[in-house]
Amino acid sequence: MTPDIYNDKRFGINHNSISNNALNIISRLQKSGFQAYIVGGGIRDMIKGLKPKDFDIVTNCEPEEIRKIFRNSRIIGRRFKLVHIAFADEIIEATTFRAGGTKTTESIEINEKGRIVRDNNWGTQEEDVLRRDLTINSIYYDPFSNEIIDYTKGIKDLKDKKIKFIGNSGERILEDPVRILRALRFAAKLNFTIDQEIVKGIKEHGNQLLEMPPARLYEEVIKLFMTGHAEQSFIQLKAHGVFDILFPNFLDKDQKFNEFYIGAFKETDKRFKLNKKLNVGFIFAVLLWPKIYEDSSISTQLNFKRFYRSIAEAVRKQQMITSIPKKYSSFIKDVWMNQVRFNRIGKKSVNFTKSLRFRAAYDFLLLRNINEEDLDPLINWWTEFKTANYDKKIRLLNTRKKKNARKQNS
Ligand code: ATP
Ligand code: MG
Repeated sequence: MTPDIYNDKRFGINHNSISNNALNIISRLQKSGFQAYIVGGGIRDMIKGLKPKDFDIVTNCEPEEIRKIFRNSRIIGRRFKLVHIAFADEIIEATTFRAGGTKTTESIEINEKGRIVRDNNWGTQEEDVLRRDLTINSIYYDPFSNEIIDYTKGIKDLKDKKIKFIGNSGERILEDPVRILRALRFAAKLNFTIDQEIVKGIKEHGNQLLEMPPARLYEEVIKLFMTGHAEQSFIQLKAHGVFDILFPNFLDKDQKFNEFYIGAFKETDKRFKLNKKLNVGFIFAVLLWPKIYEDSSISTQLNFKRFYRSIAEAVRKQQMITSIPKKYSSFIKDVWMNQVRFNRIGKKSVNFTKSLRFRAAYDFLLLRNINEEDLDPLINWWTEFKTANYDKKIRLLNTRKKKNARKQNS
């Protein structure tokens, strides 16, 4: 294979846009006689003119050896061994070239389902290229020779805005079904088109996602919905039938909740861009809400027993697909249960506005307004009430009581 080689100037890349820690690691590895490159998101995003989330390094230096060169490092992973090099403000991942991916070698361990179970056999850069997922993710950059090395026409696909797997899409999905989520995530993030082969592969093998460890799927869900492109992620997942695989608790046949989801994710993306805090629990509360809503008739005749049962069940069932850490599962339940408190206006409402989860519950109420009718008066009342001082709160409560009494008498 002969790669295309470009000079970094062509893409306006210089050392200012690269993490100093990453540059130092590469420099030290190269001075120790090894090859070392930036690969993956670090170079992909810079070529696209975006700020990379992190800089992954790849080298022909083996993990134990990397570990010796950098005191601040540790080896992690079993299925896929790599080294974390820690700094005050970031952790940089350094992986060693792998031989996996070429059918001629027996270097990766594949089980009877075509799944990679171990991939720790070191190889050359040429071999390493082929075990990566997407063409746009297998571009290598040496910041000291200024060379960008592209074996898979990744630069062309970046230019043409295409998401393509290296090799046969079906096989690459079977090797590691999580790649489905990666393909959809990059399509969402970069606004790219997904290759038809991938579309076919997802149709055929999408269900394999359910065999993935819940912890891995959880990590991917976080990346899909909490990195500034939640709305596009939702659209991509929905379009390819993957949303219903990941969140089967409510199969929204009539797309009744699409607007709710889109509205919620627009809000999430807005918060991300403003650097505001995003809560994992809140995202899951949104993702799983339709089933709770449908089960409980919260806005009409709330059936308490059913409401509680539905809440517990929704979380428990979802945890079998995407794990949800405990601290978030209680947050999710609180946000939902607090929705009931908005309907029960009374003396306890004063304390409610001061409680820990009020803000999240209130934000959630605002989202519900997207697809529930008649919430406006309630929202207006709570919006005024929550910012009122104590005396005004009491006044608002009294006025409401009188109004209710009048309603009942008439
Ligand atoms: P991000 O901006 O999310 O960090 P990234 O492309 O750098 O995007 P990472 O998860 O950091 O993604 O992985 C680094 C690189 O490792 C990828 O670009 C890709 O080349 C390779 N890679 C990661 N996960 C897989 C996978 N499941 N299968 C094949 N290659 C993978
Ligand atoms: Mg990365």
